[in-house]
Amino acid sequence: MNAKMTALGKKPSKIREIFEYSRGRKALLGEDNVFDFSLGNPSIPAPQSVNDAIKELVAGRDSVSLHGYTSAQGDLGVREAVAQSIEKRFGTPASSDDIYMTCGAAASLTVTLKAICEPGDEVIVLSPYFPEYSVFIENAGAVKITVPTLPPDFTLDLGALEAAINGKTAAVLINFPNNPTGATLSAHEAEKLGALLREKSARLSHPVYLICDEPYRELCYGEPSPFMPNYYENTVIDYSFSKSLSVPGERIGYIFVPSSAQNNRDIYAAVCGAGRSMGYVCAPSLMQYVIKNCVYDTSDISAYDKNRTLFYNGLVEMGYTVTKPNGAFYLFVKSPSGDGNEFCERAKKHEILMVPSDSFGIEGYARIAYCVKYEMIEKALPAFAALMEEYKK
Ligand code: PLP
Repeated sequence: MNAKMTALGKKPSKIREIFEYSRGRKALLGEDNVFDFSLGNPSIPAPQSVNDAIKELVAGRDSVSLHGYTSAQGDLGVREAVAQSIEKRFGTPASSDDIYMTCGAAASLTVTLKAICEPGDEVIVLSPYFPEYSVFIENAGAVKITVPTLPPDFTLDLGALEAAINGKTAAVLINFPNNPTGATLSAHEAEKLGALLREKSARLSHPVYLICDEPYRELCYGEPSPFMPNYYENTVIDYSFSKSLSVPGERIGYIFVPSSAQNNRDIYAAVCGAGRSMGYVCAPSLMQYVIKNCVYDTSDISAYDKNRTLFYNGLVEMGYTVTKPNGAFYLFVKSPSGDGNEFCERAKKHEILMVPSDSFGIEGYARIAYCVKYEMIEKALPAFAALMEEYKK
């Protein structure tokens, strides 16, 4: 057997470890007495249109064709609908031939990285970052290079990014709105990032691709996130409907390779080849057809905004240092002791479960996923206050 894969399978991610701990505590104390903020699982229902589409499809379509294979890259009509939605929403030219349907962002990322990287190439990630990036990049045979963002707002450090790009850099992987900080990218930053990557690509005589991991695109509480293909031609979008439609278990998303990208046809072919080599062909057919009907819809994200306001204001009032998130459904809280692991361990004694930030490639913070019931936040705030009192003593 493969030693690397065995080790990976045996070592659960920190988030899964906390999830298991939480199950034990809930069995002992009751569901409502454990404040579990560890998982980024949507807490609001999918829009009615998703359930209606499923019912209509099951009732109205021939079951053999409904559940049959689609094209490897996804059903043509579905890809046309996704491409049209991109054109309409962002004004970016898109055709069905630029879209590859996937099993969510995780598959979009693994396929894109495999498609773009040769073994030994470097992929730059911005810390803090989604922990699975390390696994996905290694799977592509590439090397992860970490460039920190700038606290307290976790904005791009363009100087550090510029210094990290070299002849081996195949891609820069970004994620806005961000997990774990909730940071978003401004149009001004998008312009500067595009200009930097264009200039570097010209100087290195090869495109430095920008890979945008966008499961939280629709979860923005202020300005919408800039659509990077409009700022930089060599961009690939890795999208997922997991969070926007509250369907993470259904595994559906897409890759968009814009026609502006240098070698667009070859990259798309490489995406198809990478999908083929890893068995990521023909994304779940029922969900593909659902997406065709619901491509403009989202869950009612106002519930997350309400949670964000209550939680953020409550923690700041108690004396915690928290960056106000503009998107996604996470709060990134500074450890009052400076040690993220100590903070999370101490919080456990108050039945508060958070994820220590070293999982995200940075020390000294904890991540709170606030995609939970509003009432749970109300009930948890006194526990956070008691925790802060311990630090003040
Ligand atoms: N990228 C980021 C930043 C995420 O937070 C997640 C899931 O939480 C993923 C990718 C994977 O998303 P999916 O469920 O669509 O595979």
